[in-house]
Amino acid sequence: MPTVSEALSLMDYGPAPESPAVALDWLNGRIFGHFIDGAFTEPRDPFDSVNPATGAVLAQVSQGSEGDVAAAVKAARGAARKWAGLSGGQRARHLYALARLLQKRERLFAVLESLDNGKPIRESRDIDVPLAVRHFYHHAGWAELIADEFPGMRPHGVCGQIIPWNFPLLMLAWKVAPALAAGNTVVLKPAEQTPLTALLFAELCIEAGLPKGVVNIVTGDGRTGASLVASDVDKIAFTGSTEVGRIIRRATAGTGKALTLELGGKSPFIVFAEADLEAAVEGVVDAIWFNQGEVCCAGSRILVQESVAERFTRRLKARMATLRVGDPLDKSTDIGAVVDRVQLDRIRGIVDQAVAQGAILHQAPAPNGPGCFCPPALLTDLGAANIAMSEEIFGPVVALMTFRTPDEAVALANNTRYGLAASIWNENITTALDIAAQVKAGVVWINGTNLFDANAPFGGMRESGFGREGAREGMLAYLTGASPKGRPRKAPGALSPLPAGTSGDAVDRTRKLYIGGAQKRPDGGYSYAVPGAQVPLGGRKDIRNAVEAAHKATGWSKVTGHNRAQVLYFLAENLNARARDFAPRDEVALAVERAFYWAAWADKHDGRIHSTASAQVTLAMKEPFGVMGIVCPEEAPLLGFVSTVLPAIAMGNRVIAVPAQSNPVPALDLYQVLDTSDVPGGVVNIVTGPRAELADTLAKHDDVAALWVFGEDALCRNVEEQSAGNLKPVWTEPTIRDWSGAEGQSRDFLRRAVQVKTVWVPYGA
Ligand code: NAP
Ligand code: MG
Repeated sequence: MPTVSEALSLMDYGPAPESPAVALDWLNGRIFGHFIDGAFTEPRDPFDSVNPATGAVLAQVSQGSEGDVAAAVKAARGAARKWAGLSGGQRARHLYALARLLQKRERLFAVLESLDNGKPIRESRDIDVPLAVRHFYHHAGWAELIADEFPGMRPHGVCGQIIPWNFPLLMLAWKVAPALAAGNTVVLKPAEQTPLTALLFAELCIEAGLPKGVVNIVTGDGRTGASLVASDVDKIAFTGSTEVGRIIRRATAGTGKALTLELGGKSPFIVFAEADLEAAVEGVVDAIWFNQGEVCCAGSRILVQESVAERFTRRLKARMATLRVGDPLDKSTDIGAVVDRVQLDRIRGIVDQAVAQGAILHQAPAPNGPGCFCPPALLTDLGAANIAMSEEIFGPVVALMTFRTPDEAVALANNTRYGLAASIWNENITTALDIAAQVKAGVVWINGTNLFDANAPFGGMRESGFGREGAREGMLAYLTGASPKGRPRKAPGALSPLPAGTSGDAVDRTRKLYIGGAQKRPDGGYSYAVPGAQVPLGGRKDIRNAVEAAHKATGWSKVTGHNRAQVLYFLAENLNARARDFAPRDEVALAVERAFYWAAWADKHDGRIHSTASAQVTLAMKEPFGVMGIVCPEEAPLLGFVSTVLPAIAMGNRVIAVPAQSNPVPALDLYQVLDTSDVPGGVVNIVTGPRAELADTLAKHDDVAALWVFGEDALCRNVEEQSAGNLKPVWTEPTIRDWSGAEGQSRDFLRRAVQVKTVWVPYGA
């Protein structure tokens, strides 16, 4: 006779299916049009939305044309003024109504989501839908508080929003709720594979009495998305692959459209010897396997410390064997269906390549039947160069590697183009937080994984995109400040090189570049930029040297704000002491004041602590980008330089600054002040010369993490286009600022000099 506990372990799970009837009744074999201006259009050019678990056609939806997109944008435009004109409280009522209705229909939404996407009902019911509801409630609150909390800011207008198939409803909520709370109207395009919950949401908008045109939904494939990007919208918010993110970056260059990109990831999941291994194994289950690996931020690279690697791998394999793959509507299913055949083939393709490159594959057999099922898999014995360590797989496949020391863990973790998320497992909180500080990721979970909340900023660094969703940061992405109303900038006159054979060095008052704390001869000779002063003509090589010097000056990003403040105060004093040596006269006194102003901020642009899950405290840290490029404004050669470069370094960045082309002399002369003020070499690098070429080099440079350009339209367009390589955030401003007044010391300079890293820490658990 087996004991009771033995009997329990022998018992198989009986099926516990959730009925699809509620969703199938609603679908009723429908052919959907788009949701435009408060009503569904006549269906046109329909295509199937398929249940990937069975291959059954669930419904048909319309392929949105350019005309459909234009009609939707027009409707959104028509509704924009009135919607933005409502009080925050009035908009909040609408958002509460949506939240409540969504909550009322939770079951229908969950079943429909699982049918269309293939994810287990446990995930859609317990995670996706409740989080979506939470998002609308949270943002109803922001709408209520908007005037108090975001004074002087206004909505962008019409936002185009494009989302992927992995969290169809949740991504909709992440996009729509903050946009509406901020007073924007929207046109949303769901992924072609998973449009159904968005169409159900459209019905909710009608039922909630949302004004017509505030929310519009156009279905279709990537072409519809491209039309939306090209349409007359004021902002694009995109979640999807890095590849399409690049296309959108190029397509929006020079259009003045605001842009946020939430892109791919290859997140490290770091398990230290001091970790609670059981908990870490469950972490892998939650992070990768349970979600079919379809979470952009999934910890798909496991890095485990060598001393526990064998034990951990053994447990992982044992746990993997207990996972149930199959019917997404079965409440005891852990792993549902992959969204479609294309994605399944892609996963298999990468796994095959990884194996061909020497990895060992551990995987259970796939269930029989027509569905797109991929059983959970573990790849071991792979080198750092294996495709499974670098390529986003987006399937229930984890790759496991070992490390010896914490430093090696950090190096491996950061050995990726991406920077979306990281998960750190170590019961020693000191080490865990130390690693959190060093990992390049927008979100870090300590002894946890895949935690999300409407009140926690989410978004990537590096090629995982820019901008944050959630919390106050997320609201800021849907608002815009008082932008300068000045005239458009004009390109400066061409530089005239000295005649061949003339050495700039021979002439009095010849300047040099300032790179890595030393004066350097330029690559391209000298020019008569200003009568009586020969200025260096820097080129691509000088920019590269400057970037290298800036990279070495890592210490500046690590010292405290207090340390930086002291250096900047000293700089301000020294500038004041030498004020007589500087011109233009009208700028000098203001430049001194400005230097003191930014010194004051160095230790005050704090992060925040967010209330999120009950046993977590969530830190939103403001981190410097590292190495930044700044192309300074022509209109204020000294004041413009000081007003832009100093806030960037006050926040801990190291900068390559390109001073005003028409008069770079005051900026070049600042090297003496920098030298005498203990600004470490490499923190400020000054490269003068043909601005367009220097800006182009900065935009293309993979080791420049962010770029500001105060220049004419053509220059702004070019840098935005060229930045698509490493997808650095670029701030361009084609109109003249009044540097002497409030515009010269706007908070934007601080906000744009940092990126938020959200760190989830266990608290009170
Ligand atoms: P995708 O191909 O980039 O598609 C995303 C969305 O963009 C879809 O709606 C797609 O339409 C549309 N689209 C395709 N081409 C377009 C174009 N040229 N212009 C405008 N829109 C276009 O991504 P996916 O493969 O479906 O989704 C998975 C990716 O999303 C992964 O890389 C994942 O990491 C990423 N992701 C990131 C986050 C995040 O927050 N960082 C969250 C979730 C997912 P169709 O689907 O109709 O082709
Ligand atoms: Mg589908």
